[in-house]
Amino acid sequence: MDLISIVVPCYNEEESMPRFYSEVTKTAEKIDAQIEIIFVDDGSKDLTLEVARRLSKHDKRVRYISFSRNFGKEAGMLAGLEAAKGDYVAVMDADLQDPPSLLPQMYDAVTKDGYDCAATRRTTRKGEPVIRSFFARMFYRLINKISDADIVDGARDYRLMSRRMVNAVLQMGEYNRFSKGIFGWVGFKTKWFEYQNVERVAGETKWSFWKLFKYSVEGIVAFSTTPLYISSTLGFIVCIVSFLMACFYAVKAFIFGDPSAGFPTLVCIMLFLGGIQLIGIGVLGMYLSKTYLETKHRPIYIVRETEKDGREE
Ligand code: UDP
Ligand code: MG
Repeated sequence: MDLISIVVPCYNEEESMPRFYSEVTKTAEKIDAQIEIIFVDDGSKDLTLEVARRLSKHDKRVRYISFSRNFGKEAGMLAGLEAAKGDYVAVMDADLQDPPSLLPQMYDAVTKDGYDCAATRRTTRKGEPVIRSFFARMFYRLINKISDADIVDGARDYRLMSRRMVNAVLQMGEYNRFSKGIFGWVGFKTKWFEYQNVERVAGETKWSFWKLFKYSVEGIVAFSTTPLYISSTLGFIVCIVSFLMACFYAVKAFIFGDPSAGFPTLVCIMLFLGGIQLIGIGVLGMYLSKTYLETKHRPIYIVRETEKDGREE
C-alpha cells in the first residue's frame, strides 16, 4: 500500500492542530493508502509543540519536527519534505484553509490519471482586504511576465506530489526559497483543483501587508533578473535623452545667442538622475544581498526536537 506523507508547517497553531488532525484522519479513511502526518513546529510561542507531542504519542502515524526558532513557512515545508518517507507527499496548512475533503480526488489524480502533482488554487479571495487582493493580482501578472517559473494566480501551497516531483523540489538547494516559484520551476504534469476561499478555523494569519510585500519582492528577485535589465535600460535611455538635450541647448545658445536660465530645470534633472541611480543601486543591492546569503551556505533550518526524541522518554 502507498504511503502519503502530509507535511504541515505550524506556527502558533495550538488551537487548529487537533481539529486538523481529526479532519485529516477522517478523510484518510476514504483513501486506499496509509498516511503519516508531519507537523513542523516553526518555533511557535504557544503550545504547538506540546500538542504535536501529545498527538504523536497517541497516534504513531503522527510525526513532528520542532525548530530551534521561527524560520518561516518555507523552511518548515522544506524540513517536512526532507523528512517525508511517503510515495506521495502533500503540503497542507494547519488552519484548515486547505480543505482535506479534496485529498481523495487529488490522490486519484496522481495515482490513476498519470499526473505528478495535484495542486490547488482558490478562485475567490473572500474575507481578504480589497487592496491586498488587488496587489496580489498585480504581483502574479508581473512575475509571470518576467520570470520563466509558471506561477498560477491564487495557487496555494496545498498540493499532493509524487516522489519524483518531491525529489526534484529537494534538488533545489537554494537558501532563499520561494516555493510558489520552485513548484512552478520544476515543471511536471500538474492537475489544478479549484475551490472557494475558506477562512481559517482559529488563530490569525501571520501575514501582514508589509510581510507580503517583502515576500513578493523576494519572489521576483529569486526567479527573475528582469529588474536588472530594466535598471540598465533606464540608464541607457536617460543617457540618450540627456545627450539630445545637450545638443538642443548648445544649438539654441549658438544660433539664437540665448543662454538659458535653467536653475529649476537643473535641480529637477539632478534629483531625477539621483533617484534613478539610487533605484539602480537598490536593485543591484537586492541581488547582491541574496547572493551574499546564498554563499554563506547556512542551514535553512535548525531542528531542536523530533518525534524520536519525544518517544524515547
Ligand atoms: N506558518 C509557519 N511559519 C511562519 C508562518 C506561518 O509555519 O512563520 C504556517 C502557519 O502555521 C500555517 C501556514 O504556514 O499553517 C500558513 O500561514 P497563514 O495561515 O498565516 O497564512 P495564510 O493562510 O493567511 O496565507
Ligand atoms: Mg491560513
